[in-house]
Amino acid sequence: MTKLRNCQTEAIIIKKSKLGEADRILTLYTPHLGKIQGVAKGVRRPRSKLSGHLELLTHSHVSLARGRNIDTITGSQTISSFLELKSDLDLTSQALYATELVSQFTADHIENHPLFKLLLETMEQLCQGGDNELVLRYFELNLLERVGYRPQLLLCVSCRLPLKPVTNSFCPSAGGMLCLNCTESQPLTYPVSVNGLKVLRLLQDGDYSTAGRLRMNQELSRELERLMRNYLSYLLEREVKSAAWLDTLRQQSKQNQTALL
Ligand SMILES: [Zn+2]
Repeated sequence: MTKLRNCQTEAIIIKKSKLGEADRILTLYTPHLGKIQGVAKGVRRPRSKLSGHLELLTHSHVSLARGRNIDTITGSQTISSFLELKSDLDLTSQALYATELVSQFTADHIENHPLFKLLLETMEQLCQGGDNELVLRYFELNLLERVGYRPQLLLCVSCRLPLKPVTNSFCPSAGGMLCLNCTESQPLTYPVSVNGLKVLRLLQDGDYSTAGRLRMNQELSRELERLMRNYLSYLLEREVKSAAWLDTLRQQSKQNQTALL
């Protein structure tokens, strides 16, 4: 028998789905309980007191009645509503992309405080109006670090020699860079430019203020986006849904810009 007990935690609402007529099941990412699922009863009713505090992409204090299989959310108070992220479609998609990666790379009930901090920091950074492609690359690299998939960017993963400043390649199945000699023996690799590798290294070991000082032109930005997308997809063995959404949005915004010209 598992006894119900109550607890309170900070949480970021990373997913939601409908349950019955008026309820929702929410996925919460928390500092010490890791990823948890919680039922929010009556939250889809117009006068629900909880609903405003349990929107997607909200950082809240949440009270839970712990259950054997699923917890019930009994109270909630917003800490930060991240209105910027919710009022701009691009920002919404970028933030949902980050929360979806957290959801896909974690299992329920496994504490990962650094990952919680990273997600919260990323949502704050996305609101700052800088280069959000850099923010997302920083997020991806540091997420991988925190879930145990840190890519090897300093040495060739095959011969272990330091990489020369030329276009080397990245090999998802080997989890890191390959030098020119070793690239030939691997079936699936992606070229990484000298500048691309520099940016990745700085993001991997820097912090958000390092990321804020970097500049990427569009070509470099696309190169790194493709590279990280391929590695993440390889790891997840399927396309990340939100990544497809980001592509659709990018396509739409291009069309809109063309229409304005
Ligand atoms: Zn090598």
